[in-house]
Amino acid sequence: MSHTDNASPVRAGARVAIIGGGPGGYEAATVAARMGAHVTLIEARGVGGSAVLTDVVPSKTLIATSEQTHDTQLAGALGIQVGDVHIDMARVNERVRDLARTQSDDIRAALQGLGVRVIDGRATVAPGLAGDGRRRIHVECSDTSKESLAADIVLLATGARPRELPAATPDGHRILTWTQLYHLDELPGHLIVVGSGVTGAEFAGAYRTLGAQVTLVSSRDRILPGEDADAAEIIERVFEERGMRIERHSRAMSVRSDDDGVVVTLDDGRMVEGTHCLMAVGAIPNTAGLGLEEAGVEMTESGHIRVDRVSRTTSYRVYAAGDCTGVLPLASVAAQQGRIAMWHALGDSLDPLNPEDVASAVFTSPEVATVGTSEAAAEAAGLTIRVARLPLARNPRAKMQGVSDGFVKIIASTAGVVIGGVVVGPHASDLIFPLTLAVRRRMTVDELSAASTIYPSISGTIAEVARILH
Ligand SMILES: Cc1cc2nc3c(=O)[nH]c(=O)nc-3n(C[C@H](O)[C@H](O)[C@H](O)COP(=O)(O)OP(=O)(O)OC[C@H]3O[C@@H](n4cnc5c(N)ncnc54)[C@H](O)[C@@H]3O)c2cc1C
Repeated sequence: MSHTDNASPVRAGARVAIIGGGPGGYEAATVAARMGAHVTLIEARGVGGSAVLTDVVPSKTLIATSEQTHDTQLAGALGIQVGDVHIDMARVNERVRDLARTQSDDIRAALQGLGVRVIDGRATVAPGLAGDGRRRIHVECSDTSKESLAADIVLLATGARPRELPAATPDGHRILTWTQLYHLDELPGHLIVVGSGVTGAEFAGAYRTLGAQVTLVSSRDRILPGEDADAAEIIERVFEERGMRIERHSRAMSVRSDDDGVVVTLDDGRMVEGTHCLMAVGAIPNTAGLGLEEAGVEMTESGHIRVDRVSRTTSYRVYAAGDCTGVLPLASVAAQQGRIAMWHALGDSLDPLNPEDVASAVFTSPEVATVGTSEAAAEAAGLTIRVARLPLARNPRAKMQGVSDGFVKIIASTAGVVIGGVVVGPHASDLIFPLTLAVRRRMTVDELSAASTIYPSISGTIAEVARILH
């Protein structure tokens, strides 16, 4: 990609306009304000963005309830007698919505405490620079007033929204996107989840644990097609053991709803009947209608904003972060891209984003957490690698806790450098951290295994796998 020179530093006192208040936007605002810039953040729906209002925070809060339910179901095996578990879905979702709202308010207060001006409204970018060398941002404020801001630096962090299929239009009652799930007052009798990527798998698992009958419709031969194959196999097995039905090689062609339920028609003509349908078929970036093309911001074929590893777009001093860039659809990556953009624009030192160092998790039960190069990617790239894996069922702490599903896998170069890792198990999203450090610092398996681990602990298995690769 070609760049005009975005690199010359604009230090303290610069005017920064940030469009979008999700993790990409609010983390950037925090960094820029701390560096002494005059920061305005414009957000159309609520500070915290989709991450806080509809995606990460509500889904993980719901999953916290399902985890607790799962632990209760396991209690008998540990000698605890628990009575019937009843899920009060109205209360669960009230808690979910309250937590999201509070988190949004907390972020707004923190930003305002740093001197960031928050405008509730929808922003567009004016083409070209004004006579003063600054870019104009036009805002239609929520109170119907209009405003124009002058900015030295612009950050686009407008996120993405659920993709909708024409023959399966969400009605908000029975055919739902993930943003509409949190108003259900009762547990669905039979939830059909269309899409078996991370979002589909997380909700399918959570609702099954909460007691709903669940059918998961996957267009592929397995669920979680983007994840480590061994991890996906465990999740599939566990899902089926818990009574979930998985329709493989099945594409949903249409979804109809009436007063009583939904009917999902698959590409082979079969019909699946349920009470509700969750559409989890991906997301599309919020990049249309912002004036971006006219402002010289280049887009990819998928409608994402083209950025480099320091979050620069192709337009002068216009940066972009998060899901609107399509780099990696993770809140953690959005936040890092936002920080990097501000460090770069305001002249601080920084490490460009390296997607290889990024850890990600699937919050199923058990969780799947991954970092670095996957086995599949290494094989596709023709790399010679060494891989070792141990099941958690052998780990003493896991035995004590009644945990049997899961493993630790380490992928190393032939020289013994840790290049990737996978943890499947309870709290895998926390346990992946030592492997993330190892990948980031290019540690060898010997260096990793030399660090002391607690006995008994699940992390002991991480060191043990590293020792196998010695
Ligand atoms: C169900 C689900 C669960 C997820 N769980 C996780 C997880 O556990 N961990 C994780 O790391 N990631 C998770 N993700 C991904 C994560 O939600 C996104 O990567 C993250 O929200 C991206 O942040 P962002 O700042 O790019 O945009 P968003 O959070 O989407 O925020 C963008 C904001 O920009 C605003 N906006 C758009 N256009 C304009 C405009 N013109 N003017 C003003 N404002 C505008 C929008 O209103 C929105 O609030 C999950 C996603 C989903 C769907």
